[in-house]
Amino acid sequence: MSDAPRSAELFARAQRVIPGGVNSPVRAFRAVGGTPRFMVSGQGPYLTDADGHTYVDLVASWGPMIHGHAHPQIVAAVQQAATSGLSFGTPTIGEIELAEELIGKLATAAQAHGTTSPLEEVRLVNSGTEATMSAVRLAKGVTGRRKIVKFAGCYHGHVDALLASAGSGVITFATPDTPGVTSAQAAETIVVPYNDLAAVEAAFAADGPDIAAVITEAAAGNMGAIAPKPGFNAGLREITERHGALLIMDEVMTGFRVSAAGWYGLDPVAADLFTFGKVMSGGLPAAAFGGRREIMASLSPAGPVYQAGTLSGNPVAVAAGLASLRLATPEVYVTLDATARRIGALATQALAEAGVAHRVQYAGNLFSVFFTDQDVTDFAGAQAAETFRYGPFFHAMLNAGVYLPPSAFEAWFVGAAHDDRALEIIAAALPAAARAAAAA
Ligand code: PMP
Repeated sequence: MSDAPRSAELFARAQRVIPGGVNSPVRAFRAVGGTPRFMVSGQGPYLTDADGHTYVDLVASWGPMIHGHAHPQIVAAVQQAATSGLSFGTPTIGEIELAEELIGKLATAAQAHGTTSPLEEVRLVNSGTEATMSAVRLAKGVTGRRKIVKFAGCYHGHVDALLASAGSGVITFATPDTPGVTSAQAAETIVVPYNDLAAVEAAFAADGPDIAAVITEAAAGNMGAIAPKPGFNAGLREITERHGALLIMDEVMTGFRVSAAGWYGLDPVAADLFTFGKVMSGGLPAAAFGGRREIMASLSPAGPVYQAGTLSGNPVAVAAGLASLRLATPEVYVTLDATARRIGALATQALAEAGVAHRVQYAGNLFSVFFTDQDVTDFAGAQAAETFRYGPFFHAMLNAGVYLPPSAFEAWFVGAAHDDRALEIIAAALPAAARAAAAA
Protein backbone atom coordinates (compact mmCIF):
# COMPACT_ATOMS: atom_id res chain seq x y z
CA MET A 1 0.00 0.00 0.00
CA SER A 2 2.55 2.56 -0.94
CA ASP A 3 2.61 5.52 -3.24
CA ALA A 4 6.14 6.08 -2.00
CA PRO A 5 8.14 3.52 -4.01
CA ARG A 6 11.53 5.05 -3.29
CA SER A 7 10.84 5.12 0.48
CA ALA A 8 9.62 1.51 0.27
CA GLU A 9 12.84 0.50 -1.46
CA LEU A 10 14.96 2.35 1.09
CA PHE A 11 12.99 0.82 3.98
CA ALA A 12 13.62 -2.69 2.61
CA ARG A 13 17.33 -1.86 2.32
CA ALA A 14 17.42 -0.33 5.80
CA GLN A 15 15.79 -3.42 7.31
CA ARG A 16 18.72 -5.52 6.12
CA VAL A 17 21.24 -3.54 8.14
CA ILE A 18 19.32 -1.66 10.87
CA PRO A 19 16.97 -3.43 13.34
CA GLY A 20 13.43 -2.74 12.11
CA GLY A 21 14.93 -0.37 9.56
CA VAL A 22 15.03 2.62 11.92
CA ASN A 23 17.24 4.13 14.59
CA SER A 24 14.36 5.03 16.91
CA PRO A 25 11.25 2.82 17.07
CA VAL A 26 8.35 5.24 16.49
CA ARG A 27 9.82 6.21 13.11
CA ALA A 28 8.94 2.75 11.77
CA PHE A 29 5.16 3.45 11.34
CA ARG A 30 4.32 0.19 13.18
CA ALA A 31 1.38 1.79 14.98
CA VAL A 32 -0.15 3.28 11.85
CA GLY A 33 1.01 0.79 9.21
CA GLY A 34 2.48 1.56 5.80
CA THR A 35 5.88 2.72 4.68
CA PRO A 36 7.90 5.16 6.75
CA ARG A 37 8.90 8.11 4.62
CA PHE A 38 12.62 8.68 4.18
CA MET A 39 13.15 12.40 4.31
CA VAL A 40 15.81 14.03 2.21
CA SER A 41 15.38 17.70 3.08
CA GLY A 42 13.50 20.16 5.23
CA GLN A 43 12.80 23.82 4.68
CA GLY A 44 10.77 26.00 7.04
CA PRO A 45 7.57 24.08 7.90
CA TYR A 46 8.06 21.49 5.14
CA LEU A 47 9.75 18.13 4.74
CA THR A 48 10.49 16.49 1.39
CA ASP A 49 10.77 12.73 1.08
CA ALA A 50 12.81 10.52 -1.23
CA ASP A 51 9.88 10.29 -3.68
CA GLY A 52 9.71 14.07 -3.96
CA HIS A 53 6.53 14.48 -1.86
CA THR A 54 6.40 17.53 0.36
CA TYR A 55 4.66 17.54 3.74
CA VAL A 56 3.75 20.15 6.31
CA ASP A 57 5.72 18.87 9.29
CA LEU A 58 3.92 18.57 12.64
CA VAL A 59 6.66 16.47 14.24
CA ALA A 60 9.52 19.00 14.10
CA SER A 61 12.08 16.26 14.77
CA TRP A 62 10.02 15.44 17.91
CA GLY A 63 10.38 18.94 19.23
CA PRO A 64 13.66 20.68 18.49
CA MET A 65 12.76 22.57 15.31
CA ILE A 66 10.85 25.57 16.74
CA HIS A 67 12.24 27.81 13.99
CA GLY A 68 11.40 25.37 11.19
CA HIS A 69 13.90 23.42 9.14
CA ALA A 70 17.24 24.75 7.89
CA HIS A 71 16.79 28.19 9.45
CA PRO A 72 19.50 30.27 7.74
CA GLN A 73 20.91 31.71 10.97
CA ILE A 74 21.19 28.31 12.63
CA VAL A 75 22.72 26.76 9.53
CA ALA A 76 25.24 29.64 9.33
CA ALA A 77 26.15 29.20 13.01
CA VAL A 78 26.74 25.50 12.44
CA GLN A 79 28.84 26.13 9.33
CA GLN A 80 30.93 28.69 11.13
CA ALA A 81 31.51 26.42 14.12
CA ALA A 82 32.37 23.46 11.88
CA THR A 83 35.00 25.50 10.07
CA SER A 84 36.77 26.08 13.38
CA GLY A 85 37.01 22.38 14.20
CA LEU A 86 34.47 19.66 14.95
CA SER A 87 35.48 18.46 18.41
CA PHE A 88 38.38 19.13 20.75
CA GLY A 89 37.65 17.22 23.94
CA THR A 90 38.63 20.35 25.86
CA PRO A 91 36.54 23.09 27.41
CA THR A 92 35.30 25.72 24.92
CA ILE A 93 33.77 29.19 25.18
CA GLY A 94 30.51 28.10 23.56
CA GLU A 95 29.77 25.72 26.44
CA ILE A 96 29.90 28.58 28.93
CA GLU A 97 27.66 30.66 26.69
CA LEU A 98 25.09 27.89 26.32
CA ALA A 99 25.08 27.20 30.07
CA GLU A 100 24.64 30.94 30.71
CA GLU A 101 21.83 31.11 28.16
CA LEU A 102 19.91 28.23 29.78
CA ILE A 103 20.42 29.58 33.28
CA GLY A 104 19.56 33.11 32.13
CA LYS A 105 16.25 32.05 30.58
CA LEU A 106 15.05 30.48 33.82
CA ALA A 107 16.41 33.38 35.87
CA THR A 108 14.41 35.85 33.78
CA ALA A 109 11.23 33.84 34.30
CA ALA A 110 11.93 33.45 38.01
CA GLN A 111 12.39 37.19 38.35
CA ALA A 112 9.13 37.86 36.53
CA HIS A 113 7.41 35.57 39.06
CA GLY A 114 9.15 37.30 41.98
CA THR A 115 11.24 34.29 42.92
CA THR A 116 14.80 33.05 42.48
CA SER A 117 15.76 30.52 39.88
CA PRO A 118 16.48 26.94 40.95
CA LEU A 119 18.81 26.52 37.95
CA GLU A 120 22.29 27.65 38.95
CA GLU A 121 24.57 25.18 37.19
CA VAL A 122 24.15 22.86 34.22
CA ARG A 123 26.12 19.99 32.73
CA LEU A 124 25.86 19.44 28.97
CA VAL A 125 25.26 15.95 27.59
CA ASN A 126 24.30 14.52 24.19
CA SER A 127 20.71 13.33 24.55
CA GLY A 128 17.66 13.64 26.76
CA THR A 129 18.22 10.05 27.87
CA GLU A 130 21.68 10.92 29.13
CA ALA A 131 20.28 13.94 30.93
CA THR A 132 17.63 11.98 32.86
CA MET A 133 19.98 9.06 33.50
CA SER A 134 22.57 11.41 34.96
CA ALA A 135 20.01 13.36 36.98
CA VAL A 136 18.69 10.13 38.50
CA ARG A 137 22.21 8.98 39.36
CA LEU A 138 22.96 12.34 40.94
CA ALA A 139 19.74 12.21 42.96
CA LYS A 140 20.62 8.74 44.24
CA GLY A 141 24.19 9.85 44.98
CA VAL A 142 23.15 12.96 46.85
CA THR A 143 20.41 11.33 48.93
CA GLY A 144 22.05 7.94 49.42
CA ARG A 145 18.66 6.39 48.58
CA ARG A 146 17.87 3.91 45.82
CA LYS A 147 14.26 4.25 44.63
CA ILE A 148 12.67 6.55 42.07
CA VAL A 149 8.99 7.44 41.68
CA LYS A 150 7.80 7.96 38.11
CA PHE A 151 4.39 8.38 36.51
CA ALA A 152 2.70 5.88 34.22
CA GLY A 153 2.81 7.14 30.64
CA CYS A 154 5.68 9.55 31.23
CA TYR A 155 8.73 8.89 29.08
CA HIS A 156 12.17 10.00 30.17
CA GLY A 157 14.30 8.33 27.51
CA HIS A 158 15.42 4.70 27.46
CA VAL A 159 17.07 4.74 30.89
CA ASP A 160 16.75 1.23 32.42
CA ALA A 161 15.06 2.32 35.62
CA LEU A 162 12.70 4.70 33.79
CA LEU A 163 11.25 2.37 31.17
CA ALA A 164 8.57 0.98 33.48
CA SER A 165 5.14 2.06 32.17
CA ALA A 166 6.83 4.59 29.93
CA GLY A 167 5.04 6.52 27.20
CA SER A 168 6.10 7.32 23.63
CA GLY A 169 7.41 4.33 21.66
CA VAL A 170 7.17 2.07 24.70
CA ILE A 171 3.35 2.29 24.60
CA THR A 172 3.24 2.32 20.84
CA PHE A 173 4.95 -1.06 20.83
CA ALA A 174 3.09 -2.34 23.89
CA THR A 175 6.24 -3.31 25.75
CA PRO A 176 5.58 -2.01 29.26
CA ASP A 177 8.59 -3.84 30.60
CA THR A 178 11.43 -4.40 28.24
CA PRO A 179 13.70 -7.43 28.36
CA GLY A 180 17.17 -6.32 29.36
CA VAL A 181 15.98 -4.32 32.36
CA THR A 182 16.68 -6.54 35.36
CA SER A 183 14.14 -7.14 38.09
CA ALA A 184 16.53 -5.44 40.51
CA GLN A 185 16.44 -2.30 38.36
CA ALA A 186 12.66 -2.49 37.93
CA ALA A 187 12.24 -2.94 41.69
CA GLU A 188 13.85 0.44 42.22
CA THR A 189 11.12 2.19 40.25
CA ILE A 190 7.73 2.93 41.78
CA VAL A 191 5.12 3.77 39.13
CA VAL A 192 2.05 5.82 40.08
CA PRO A 193 -0.75 7.41 38.02
CA TYR A 194 -0.09 10.86 36.56
CA ASN A 195 -1.93 13.78 38.16
CA ASP A 196 -2.58 11.76 41.32
CA LEU A 197 -0.97 13.34 44.39
CA ALA A 198 -2.68 10.87 46.72
CA ALA A 199 -0.85 8.03 44.96
CA VAL A 200 2.44 9.87 45.45
CA GLU A 201 1.66 10.33 49.14
CA ALA A 202 0.89 6.61 49.38
CA ALA A 203 4.21 5.73 47.69
CA PHE A 204 6.06 7.84 50.26
CA ALA A 205 4.03 6.39 53.11
CA ALA A 206 5.16 2.91 52.03
CA ASP A 207 8.75 3.58 50.89
CA GLY A 208 9.64 7.13 51.96
CA PRO A 209 13.09 6.54 53.46
CA ASP A 210 14.19 4.70 50.27
CA ILE A 211 12.93 7.25 47.72
CA ALA A 212 15.72 9.34 46.19
CA ALA A 213 13.56 11.32 43.79
CA VAL A 214 10.29 11.82 41.98
CA ILE A 215 10.77 12.37 38.25
CA THR A 216 7.98 13.89 36.19
CA GLU A 217 7.53 15.37 32.76
CA ALA A 218 6.94 19.06 33.49
CA ALA A 219 3.82 18.54 31.38
CA ALA A 220 3.18 15.12 29.91
CA GLY A 221 3.77 14.92 26.17
CA ASN A 222 4.57 11.26 25.69
CA MET A 223 1.09 9.75 26.14
CA GLY A 224 -0.37 12.51 24.02
CA ALA A 225 -0.47 15.99 25.55
CA ILE A 226 -1.71 15.97 29.14
CA ALA A 227 -1.13 19.07 31.25
CA PRO A 228 -0.52 18.67 34.97
CA LYS A 229 -3.63 19.60 36.96
CA PRO A 230 -3.27 23.02 38.64
CA GLY A 231 -1.11 22.51 41.73
CA PHE A 232 0.11 19.05 40.74
CA ASN A 233 3.76 20.01 40.16
CA ALA A 234 3.71 22.25 43.24
CA GLY A 235 2.26 19.34 45.21
CA LEU A 236 5.15 17.14 44.10
CA ARG A 237 7.53 19.83 45.33
CA GLU A 238 5.86 19.91 48.72
CA ILE A 239 5.72 16.13 49.17
CA THR A 240 9.31 15.49 48.08
CA GLU A 241 10.63 18.25 50.29
CA ARG A 242 8.74 16.89 53.28
CA HIS A 243 10.31 13.45 52.76
CA GLY A 244 13.87 14.57 51.97
CA ALA A 245 13.62 13.36 48.38
CA LEU A 246 14.55 15.35 45.29
CA LEU A 247 12.17 16.51 42.54
CA ILE A 248 13.42 16.06 38.97
CA MET A 249 11.48 18.11 36.44
CA ASP A 250 11.97 16.64 32.98
CA GLU A 251 11.73 19.53 30.53
CA VAL A 252 13.33 17.71 27.60
CA MET A 253 10.15 18.17 25.58
CA THR A 254 8.71 21.34 27.13
CA GLY A 255 11.98 23.20 27.74
CA PHE A 256 12.31 26.43 25.71
CA ARG A 257 9.28 25.32 23.63
CA VAL A 258 6.16 26.07 25.69
CA SER A 259 7.68 29.39 26.78
CA ALA A 260 11.11 31.07 26.78
CA ALA A 261 11.77 29.26 30.07
CA GLY A 262 9.81 26.13 29.22
CA TRP A 263 7.14 24.87 31.59
CA TYR A 264 8.98 26.61 34.42
CA GLY A 265 8.04 29.90 32.73
CA LEU A 266 4.34 28.96 32.96
CA ASP A 267 4.41 27.30 36.38
CA PRO A 268 7.59 28.14 38.30
CA VAL A 269 7.96 25.13 40.56
CA ALA A 270 11.45 25.04 42.05
CA ALA A 271 12.54 21.49 41.30
CA ASP A 272 15.91 20.29 42.56
CA LEU A 273 17.02 19.10 39.14
CA PHE A 274 15.86 19.90 35.61
CA THR A 275 16.56 18.06 32.38
CA PHE A 276 16.58 19.71 28.96
CA GLY A 277 17.14 18.63 25.36
CA LYS A 278 15.48 19.11 21.97
CA VAL A 279 15.00 22.90 21.48
CA MET A 280 18.23 23.77 23.30
CA SER A 281 20.09 21.66 20.73
CA GLY A 282 18.82 23.45 17.64
CA GLY A 283 18.44 19.99 16.09
CA LEU A 284 21.93 18.64 16.75
CA PRO A 285 22.71 16.19 19.58
CA ALA A 286 22.85 18.26 22.77
CA ALA A 287 20.99 18.14 26.07
CA ALA A 288 21.59 19.20 29.66
CA PHE A 289 20.71 18.66 33.27
CA GLY A 290 21.11 21.16 36.07
CA GLY A 291 19.91 22.53 39.34
CA ARG A 292 20.96 24.30 42.47
CA ARG A 293 24.71 24.70 43.01
CA GLU A 294 24.77 22.68 46.21
CA ILE A 295 23.35 19.65 44.37
CA MET A 296 25.36 20.04 41.15
CA ALA A 297 28.51 20.35 43.29
CA SER A 298 28.26 16.61 43.93
CA LEU A 299 28.99 15.96 40.27
CA SER A 300 32.45 14.91 39.13
CA PRO A 301 35.04 16.52 39.08
CA ALA A 302 33.64 18.94 41.70
CA GLY A 303 32.20 16.03 43.69
CA PRO A 304 32.01 12.24 43.87
CA VAL A 305 29.13 11.34 41.47
CA TYR A 306 30.70 10.35 38.17
CA GLN A 307 29.38 11.56 34.83
CA ALA A 308 31.29 12.26 31.59
CA GLY A 309 31.13 12.37 27.77
CA THR A 310 33.61 12.41 24.87
CA LEU A 311 31.39 14.65 22.76
CA SER A 312 29.57 16.49 25.58
CA GLY A 313 29.43 20.21 24.84
CA ASN A 314 30.39 19.53 21.23
CA PRO A 315 31.17 22.90 19.62
CA VAL A 316 28.98 22.41 16.56
CA ALA A 317 25.98 21.22 18.59
CA VAL A 318 26.50 24.05 21.06
CA ALA A 319 26.57 26.60 18.21
CA ALA A 320 23.28 25.24 16.87
CA GLY A 321 21.69 25.34 20.32
CA LEU A 322 22.88 28.86 21.03
CA ALA A 323 21.63 30.14 17.68
CA SER A 324 18.25 28.45 18.24
CA LEU A 325 17.82 29.89 21.75
CA ARG A 326 18.95 33.37 20.71
CA LEU A 327 16.38 33.39 17.89
CA ALA A 328 13.64 32.45 20.36
CA THR A 329 12.20 35.92 20.96
CA PRO A 330 8.93 36.51 22.81
CA GLU A 331 7.21 36.85 19.41
CA VAL A 332 8.28 33.31 18.52
CA TYR A 333 6.34 31.98 21.52
CA VAL A 334 3.28 34.07 20.65
CA THR A 335 3.41 32.53 17.17
CA LEU A 336 3.91 28.96 18.45
CA ASP A 337 0.97 29.30 20.85
CA ALA A 338 -1.32 30.86 18.24
CA THR A 339 -0.39 28.29 15.60
CA ALA A 340 -1.01 25.39 17.96
CA ARG A 341 -4.44 26.82 18.87
CA ARG A 342 -5.35 27.39 15.21
CA ILE A 343 -4.44 23.85 14.18
CA GLY A 344 -6.19 22.44 17.24
CA ALA A 345 -9.34 24.41 16.38
CA LEU A 346 -9.22 23.17 12.78
CA ALA A 347 -8.94 19.58 14.03
CA THR A 348 -11.86 20.09 16.42
CA GLN A 349 -14.01 21.54 13.66
CA ALA A 350 -13.27 18.73 11.20
CA LEU A 351 -13.75 15.95 13.76
CA ALA A 352 -16.97 17.49 15.09
CA GLU A 353 -18.36 17.76 11.55
CA ALA A 354 -17.49 14.10 10.94
CA GLY A 355 -19.15 13.12 14.24
CA VAL A 356 -15.99 11.70 15.81
CA ALA A 357 -15.81 11.85 19.62
CA HIS A 358 -12.56 13.57 20.45
CA ARG A 359 -10.61 15.85 22.73
CA VAL A 360 -7.93 18.21 21.48
CA GLN A 361 -5.76 18.68 24.55
CA TYR A 362 -3.06 21.25 25.11
CA ALA A 363 -0.08 21.44 27.41
CA GLY A 364 1.11 24.91 26.53
CA ASN A 365 1.67 24.75 22.76
CA LEU A 366 2.10 20.98 22.81
CA PHE A 367 -1.17 19.39 21.78
CA SER A 368 -2.67 16.19 20.51
CA VAL A 369 -5.98 14.62 19.56
CA PHE A 370 -7.52 11.88 21.70
CA PHE A 371 -10.42 9.94 20.19
CA THR A 372 -12.63 9.95 23.29
CA ASP A 373 -15.44 12.01 24.78
CA GLN A 374 -13.70 12.21 28.18
CA ASP A 375 -11.00 14.62 29.28
CA VAL A 376 -7.73 12.68 29.49
CA THR A 377 -5.72 13.27 32.65
CA ASP A 378 -3.61 10.13 32.90
CA PHE A 379 -2.26 7.09 31.10
CA ALA A 380 -5.36 4.95 31.73
CA GLY A 381 -7.46 7.64 30.07
CA ALA A 382 -5.07 7.86 27.11
CA GLN A 383 -5.20 4.10 26.65
CA ALA A 384 -9.00 4.05 26.88
CA ALA A 385 -9.30 6.34 23.84
CA GLU A 386 -10.22 4.85 20.45
CA THR A 387 -6.68 4.73 19.15
CA PHE A 388 -7.74 2.47 16.25
CA ARG A 389 -9.05 5.63 14.59
CA TYR A 390 -5.61 7.17 14.49
CA GLY A 391 -4.05 5.04 11.69
CA PRO A 392 -6.67 5.96 9.04
CA PHE A 393 -6.62 9.58 10.25
CA PHE A 394 -2.83 9.68 10.04
CA HIS A 395 -2.69 8.18 6.54
CA ALA A 396 -5.36 10.50 5.17
CA MET A 397 -3.33 13.44 6.49
CA LEU A 398 -0.11 11.99 5.06
CA ASN A 399 -1.70 11.48 1.63
CA ALA A 400 -2.86 15.09 1.72
CA GLY A 401 0.64 16.33 2.55
CA VAL A 402 0.67 16.62 6.36
CA TYR A 403 3.22 14.69 8.41
CA LEU A 404 1.76 13.89 11.86
CA PRO A 405 3.46 11.82 14.56
CA PRO A 406 3.04 8.18 13.49
CA SER A 407 1.46 7.21 16.83
CA ALA A 408 -1.66 8.24 18.72
CA PHE A 409 0.40 8.64 21.89
CA GLU A 410 2.64 11.48 20.73
CA ALA A 411 2.24 15.23 20.92
CA TRP A 412 2.04 17.38 17.79
CA PHE A 413 4.74 20.04 17.44
CA VAL A 414 4.52 23.32 15.59
CA GLY A 415 7.23 25.75 14.56
CA ALA A 416 7.34 29.50 14.09
CA ALA A 417 7.79 28.87 10.34
CA HIS A 418 4.26 27.42 9.99
CA ASP A 419 2.68 30.15 7.90
CA ASP A 420 -0.78 30.66 6.42
CA ARG A 421 0.00 28.44 3.43
CA ALA A 422 1.07 25.57 5.70
CA LEU A 423 -2.11 26.03 7.74
CA GLU A 424 -4.23 26.02 4.60
CA ILE A 425 -2.75 22.65 3.63
CA ILE A 426 -3.62 21.32 7.10
CA ALA A 427 -7.13 22.80 6.93
CA ALA A 428 -7.70 21.24 3.51
CA ALA A 429 -6.46 17.83 4.69
CA LEU A 430 -8.47 17.55 7.90
CA PRO A 431 -12.07 16.95 6.69
CA ALA A 432 -11.22 13.78 4.74
CA ALA A 433 -8.97 12.59 7.57
CA ALA A 434 -11.79 13.14 10.06
CA ARG A 435 -14.14 11.10 7.82
CA ALA A 436 -11.49 8.35 7.65
CA ALA A 437 -11.32 8.38 11.46
CA ALA A 438 -15.12 8.19 11.62
CA ALA A 439 -15.19 5.21 9.27
CA ALA A 440 -12.50 3.27 11.18
N1 PMP B 1 12.44 13.08 28.40
C1 PMP B 1 11.36 13.45 27.69
C2 PMP B 1 10.24 14.17 28.38
C3 PMP B 1 11.29 13.19 26.33
O1 PMP B 1 10.21 13.56 25.64
C4 PMP B 1 12.36 12.50 25.70
C5 PMP B 1 12.35 12.17 24.21
N2 PMP B 1 11.19 12.27 23.54
C6 PMP B 1 13.46 12.13 26.47
C7 PMP B 1 13.47 12.44 27.82
C8 PMP B 1 14.62 11.42 25.87
O2 PMP B 1 15.35 12.25 25.03
P1 PMP B 1 16.27 11.63 23.87
O3 PMP B 1 15.35 11.00 22.89
O4 PMP B 1 17.02 12.82 23.35
O5 PMP B 1 17.17 10.64 24.51
